[in-house]
Amino acid sequence: MSDAPVIVAGGGQAGAQAAVSLRQAGFEGRIVLVGDEPSLPYQRPPLSKDYLAGKLEESGLLLRAEKVYADQRVELMLGEQITAIDTARRSISLASGGELAYSHLVLATGARNRPLPAPGAELDGVFYLRTLAEARSLRERLGQTRRAVVVGGGFIGLEFAAAARAHGIAVSVVEAAARPMSRVLSVQMSSYLAARHDTNGVPIILNRSVQRFVGENGRLTGVVLDDGTVLEADLAVVGIGVLPNAELAEAAGLAVKNGVVVDENLLTSDPFISAIGDCASFPSSFAGGLIRLESVQNATDQARCVAARLAGKPTPPYNNVPWFWSEQYDVRLQMAGITSSHDQAVLRGSPDDNAFSVFCFRDGAFLGAESVNRTPDHLAVRKLLAAGIAITPEQAADLSFDLKLAAAPPAAAAVSAAK
Ligand code: ADP
Repeated sequence: MSDAPVIVAGGGQAGAQAAVSLRQAGFEGRIVLVGDEPSLPYQRPPLSKDYLAGKLEESGLLLRAEKVYADQRVELMLGEQITAIDTARRSISLASGGELAYSHLVLATGARNRPLPAPGAELDGVFYLRTLAEARSLRERLGQTRRAVVVGGGFIGLEFAAAARAHGIAVSVVEAAARPMSRVLSVQMSSYLAARHDTNGVPIILNRSVQRFVGENGRLTGVVLDDGTVLEADLAVVGIGVLPNAELAEAAGLAVKNGVVVDENLLTSDPFISAIGDCASFPSSFAGGLIRLESVQNATDQARCVAARLAGKPTPPYNNVPWFWSEQYDVRLQMAGITSSHDQAVLRGSPDDNAFSVFCFRDGAFLGAESVNRTPDHLAVRKLLAAGIAITPEQAADLSFDLKLAAAPPAAAAVSAAK
């Protein structure tokens, strides 16, 4: 490698982890982390959960204290934007002026809110929720809010709805699809969640989208749906998915397809550039092809994988088990595997007990599971998937079938204990 630093582009979960892991893996050269947000790298998942509910303050969001970056000799360039990548010269251009050469570039540029192209979206009172700055202004507004409309019944929208109820705000959710969280959840789990929102006084209006936002004196007063319904609102939160930040890579001539395309070693089409986290489209045996994932698991595991490779350690191809979680009211939802292509869903336990799992199969092959308040199921499923151990739909439904034991059969346990 040249004397130029490894540059990590992006100061989110993936970028911060890559920088620190690189040093921990024994890399001795310079490490520069460039991030356009002004704050130290922070956790995003709590923004739509405990932070908005008022149970967590900003200081509790930081991924690492500032001192850790200094101790690990990670040079932080925060509030700085990369405007171009020159692959021939192996350098990046910075918005503040100047260029910086790299020996290797790790793209961890993440994703941004998908904008809702509806008239009135610029009114005061229409919010998005992805960054700390957005969450901060939203939190400040909650105290003056009586009625909120959430656009999008996905992770962000439903978590916000639950947090807003904790503030006593009247909330409705408008979802374009036929059921909430349909991108990731089975019909059974969608129905359960819809019922929990209903019980908590949050109607989810399905198969509808927003036609326009209306206001008075620049301030939001209502949301007009595509069937003409007007929902009174002094606050609207739009959570209709994200777009990967892949423009820099595309402009530099790298392969891009729903994110920056990487191989099983997380290397882009340029041998001096890797991509990780929300911006990367990577091959996964769990997805049966290229997939782009938005999760803490994906960001941290991919960061560690690239860091180990750049530190010269032997690294197996990246193929970690994907897992996700969400919290809404007292529902702790945990998902493992990529289950969206399933053709059979089997219940383990009962939704009436508020503790159950949905196990998903395709052509009889086990894909993964969604669990509500059944963490042991979730953990066992992660182990099963990692070990490539299949279970049958009958076993999944049978509460007397020991999942933990299936995930760690005595022979395998003895081998790992002997290591
Ligand atoms: P996020 O991370 O923003 O929550 P998700 O993909 O989990 O992203 O959820 C976004 C949700 O928004 C999906 O359920 C999708 O069907 C819904 N959606 C997309 N476009 C619209 C729209 N114009 N109006 C209402 N809902 C929408």
